[in-house]
Amino acid sequence: MTNEKLPVVAFIGLGVMGREMALHLAHAGYPVRLFDISSTAVDAVVAKGGIRCETVAAAVRGAEIAISMLPNTPQVEDVVNRDGVLDNMERGGVFIDMSTISPEATRTMAAALAERGITMLDAPVSGGPIGAKNAALSIMVGGDRSAFERAKSVLEVMGTTISHVGGPGAGQTVKLCNQLVCAINIQAVCEALALGRASGVDLAQMRDVLLGGSASSWMLEKLGPAMIAGDAAAGFRIDLMLKDLRLVLEMAGQNDVALPGTSLVTSQYVEARAHGEGSNGNQALFRVYDRMTGQDASRVPVMEKQP
Ligand code: NAD
Repeated sequence: MTNEKLPVVAFIGLGVMGREMALHLAHAGYPVRLFDISSTAVDAVVAKGGIRCETVAAAVRGAEIAISMLPNTPQVEDVVNRDGVLDNMERGGVFIDMSTISPEATRTMAAALAERGITMLDAPVSGGPIGAKNAALSIMVGGDRSAFERAKSVLEVMGTTISHVGGPGAGQTVKLCNQLVCAINIQAVCEALALGRASGVDLAQMRDVLLGGSASSWMLEKLGPAMIAGDAAAGFRIDLMLKDLRLVLEMAGQNDVALPGTSLVTSQYVEARAHGEGSNGNQALFRVYDRMTGQDASRVPVMEKQP
């Protein structure tokens, strides 16, 4: 049942993440107007109370808040500039992009929207599909602070840690720094496990020891067991991390910052994808080390690529 006191929210992009986030809004009583280029993606949320819209324009018309959760920068630019956010959202509306995209493109869109009286917040998330399902995402928000205060109660329906981190693009910047740390940390864990295995130590015991000391990390704790077991099953996908690392390098180029660690690990993600690992989880980076050290990389079958 929708609550008429709550603002109308448009939600565009109902994939792995967006579907769960939109479902929370519908459960909380928000009137949620839905659009995705895949109508089957919309079905699951409509079944739980969302309102199907046939276009972006129809979804955002009359919405006080519009949210996008799309694959990458070009899709968000299309939705804003071509498909209807810019021309159909009312003055005073807040457009919140929760995808992970380019900070520079975000600032350009925020400026264009501001000219029409629409405020854009960039609010990428950390926590993955499980965080989305449990409404436990960490959300880092860039943009106007008063718009952030207005939108906060909507964000609180989807996440637990919600931080305003600066002006337009700051949320994306923090998210990309987060991804850089994650990727290099995964690489470090894979590298240590490759050396440990080649030297014949018990990897499970080694992980326990490392977790008790200064080498401990979220990646070692959460992904280490799958790496040791040779399990590449999907979580946060190799393809998505590669997309994010390319955004990091783009931002580094724009700011004239050398990032040798990111450059190296990006090449390893490219190698992993070239070997059919794009739809596998990030821990599948261990297979790069399998290949480089002549270990049997076929011990667990590579998952089939998703369309
Ligand atoms: P996804 O591919 O599962 O979903 C994207 C959805 O957008 C799809 O349903 C697709 O049909 C739709 N779409 C694409 N172009 C569209 C357009 N022009 N108009 C309307 N709909 C369109 O992706 P996801 O895993 O949900 O990720 C979404 C974003 O969240 C990405 O930027 C990703 O980097 C970020 N993210 C993902 C995870 C994760 O673990 N999956 C974690 C954190 C952040």
